[in-house]
Amino acid sequence: MDDAREKELLDLIKRLHCLMEDYAELLRLEQIDNKLLKEKIVELRNKKQNHYLSTEQKRKFLSVAKKVCANCRTIENLQIDHIIPKIKGGTDEISNLQFLCYKCHKAKHKKREAEEEIKKAGEV
Ligand SMILES: [Zn+2]
Repeated sequence: MDDAREKELLDLIKRLHCLMEDYAELLRLEQIDNKLLKEKIVELRNKKQNHYLSTEQKRKFLSVAKKVCANCRTIENLQIDHIIPKIKGGTDEISNLQFLCYKCHKAKHKKREAEEEIKKAGEV
């Protein structure tokens, strides 16, 4: 084998080595991304589950709460509401729960959504 040919081969091997390193790096990055993605999914799933009261907590609340809407005092179509929403750090404690009728509950959520929209618009 002459010198030129040998040099060519060595260059080729070097380039292949670089490519393999790049490939290994890509594989590593992809694994990290998958891990982050999985963590995010678990986090979101937990958040969703947290939105609902445990059966025991619900029973506890139902046994002590006055069955009227905290807002309009109707006794129809009552729903359990988190006074401070869980997404804002509210708890499942009885002190953070109240009855709202369907209409007031819906209005509260709409109001909160509207407030968040305004906040979002302000941030831009
Ligand atoms: Zn009401």
